[in-house]
Amino acid sequence: MNVLILGGTSEARALARILHADSRFDIVTSLAGRVRDPLLPVGPARIGGFGGPGGLASWLRENGVDALVDATHPFASAMSSNARAAAAETGLPLIRLERRAWEPTPADRWTVAGSLDEAAEIVGPTARRVFLTIGRQGVGRFAHLTDPWFLVRSIDPPSSALPPRHEVLLARGPFTVDDETSLMRERLIEVLVTKNSGGAMTEAKLVAARSLGIPVVMIDRPPRPRASVVLDSPTEVAEWLRARL
Ligand code: NAP
Repeated sequence: MNVLILGGTSEARALARILHADSRFDIVTSLAGRVRDPLLPVGPARIGGFGGPGGLASWLRENGVDALVDATHPFASAMSSNARAAAAETGLPLIRLERRAWEPTPADRWTVAGSLDEAAEIVGPTARRVFLTIGRQGVGRFAHLTDPWFLVRSIDPPSSALPPRHEVLLARGPFTVDDETSLMRERLIEVLVTKNSGGAMTEAKLVAARSLGIPVVMIDRPPRPRASVVLDSPTEVAEWLRARL
């Protein structure tokens, strides 16, 4: 079975590892090419956009793909819409691999924001020292906030405008609770801003914020286009595909 995995996540890499070890599958993982030095999956990979849903549909046909797995990040909604349209056009099954969202515990102090702009509105008037962990893209939405100081953490340097008072910290997860706690203590962080990415790789910051009593502005996931099947673990996706061999 030929499978195209739309990747860029640890779940996509885990699925590639499982399917690559099974000789009944031929897989290709696709990456957008956003990160300069990406973590590459096991097995073949291609890098760069397809040129919209039509380009993806052509690629699926030309490469004889039998199943499409959308394992992109929960905030990569444009790629997921393209995947849905291309699957509909080609009649291929679309399996969405999506890690579960984080849920607050009674000890958490979350304010949920519907978008990056709403998160900027929430932090603007109140916070003085903000830890911004939303990745490189989207930092520009906070650039107009002149009063707070921001610790901006991302894998590659942000290319957009930055708020005037900031420090950029380049780092790639996973992070430990001890390191996150020390970082937030050292930088005197008063509020944490994050996307609800879910998953264990970057969850330590939430545990640290909880234990330090730091409030969190949690940006909700964008709405998702429907897929034929939605599963939250790479093993389940592999099982689903094996059942169709
Ligand atoms: P997006 O806004 O949904 O996608 C924008 C365009 O990038 C798509 O239309 C597509 O171009 C191309 N693209 C996206 N993912 C691709 C993939 N896996 N393979 C080939 N082309 C892809 O995506 P994004 O939010 O910029 O995220 C880009 C990638 O980074 C995704 O693969 C995602 O899994 C990963 N990622 C995103 C976040 C996040 O917070 N957004 C966090 C961690 C990892 P064409 O229309 O030309 O095909």
